[in-house]
Amino acid sequence: MISLGIEGTAWSLSIGVVDESDVILIENDPYIPKEGGIHPREASLHHSENIGKLVRRVFSRVDPESIDVVSFSQGPGMGPCLRIVATTARALSLRLKKPLVGVNHCLAHLEVGRWKTGAKNPVTLYVSGGNSQIIARRGKNYRVFGETLDIGLGNALDKLARYMGLKHPGGPKIEELAKSGKRYYELPYTVKGMDFSFSGMVTASQKLLDEGAKKEDIAYSFQETAFAMLAEVSERAMAYLEVDELLLVGGVGANARLQTMLKKMCEERKASFYAPPKELMGDNGAMIAYLGLLMHKNGYSTKIEESTVKPDFRVEDVDVNWE
Ligand code: AMP
Ligand code: MG
Repeated sequence: MISLGIEGTAWSLSIGVVDESDVILIENDPYIPKEGGIHPREASLHHSENIGKLVRRVFSRVDPESIDVVSFSQGPGMGPCLRIVATTARALSLRLKKPLVGVNHCLAHLEVGRWKTGAKNPVTLYVSGGNSQIIARRGKNYRVFGETLDIGLGNALDKLARYMGLKHPGGPKIEELAKSGKRYYELPYTVKGMDFSFSGMVTASQKLLDEGAKKEDIAYSFQETAFAMLAEVSERAMAYLEVDELLLVGGVGANARLQTMLKKMCEERKASFYAPPKELMGDNGAMIAYLGLLMHKNGYSTKIEESTVKPDFRVEDVDVNWE
């Protein structure tokens, strides 16, 4: 079975094609803001202007007739962006006469991670631009055991980088700067039970920068503090749930320092640490194609009249009938 998947919940416009054993292709046409962060209307305009070309690029590499299922990111995400994706998916499904599967974007990150790493029943740390959550499967649903009380870690890093005059996306730039950081500044370490928060750290960092702190030192202090918070909560979830696997997914998961810290925590408790390859970490069409394929094999499909976008779609709302 071959699945085509369309992603476009925010900055990433991407189409992936997968079969049951591997990723066949990923074609990307990301929205990169000229200045500032991601503006929903501008991002959706980018998506609507470029999705046609992207579809043609994909079909120059795979035969449209070979597609068995059309999958798309139904939510969560920015409404105007989601609508472009859903419209395209409906049109392709009707044109190719193939079933449509609307998928949960967060679950797609998680399932493509399990697929490509071999993690069986992990605690998942999902850290992206808009989301930061600790997720684990319990019975027929995935549950969120902890999450950010304000902004996602990616957005926090992007915001901090922007304040330093660096362009979007800021995460990789903060990672680079942090490597030459020497002085550690104490920043608000906010963990409340299983939840955490990042916006206080951003404000405190901005204040320190105003007072003349070096960018490198702030980048370093920010990473050390935020990643320690995530390691603490991930470890607590693993202990409570008696799980000995940790899976890291989402765009921020590409960060080598974050991976090192989590790996160390896992080693200390004799647990396994998993992270998928970089091209599957951030938002991409292949993860949507894979979850669509998995769901379709297990009997799911989405009727056109049920394919409206779900900007606030929660991972808990998906009934899971696969192992
Ligand atoms: P996603 O929404 O999953 O595509 O993730 C996008 C977010 O990941 C953006 O906020 C990026 O700044 C962030 N990001 C990408 N690469 C890195 C990195 N190496 N370190 C930290 N954050 C990153
Ligand atoms: Mg994402």
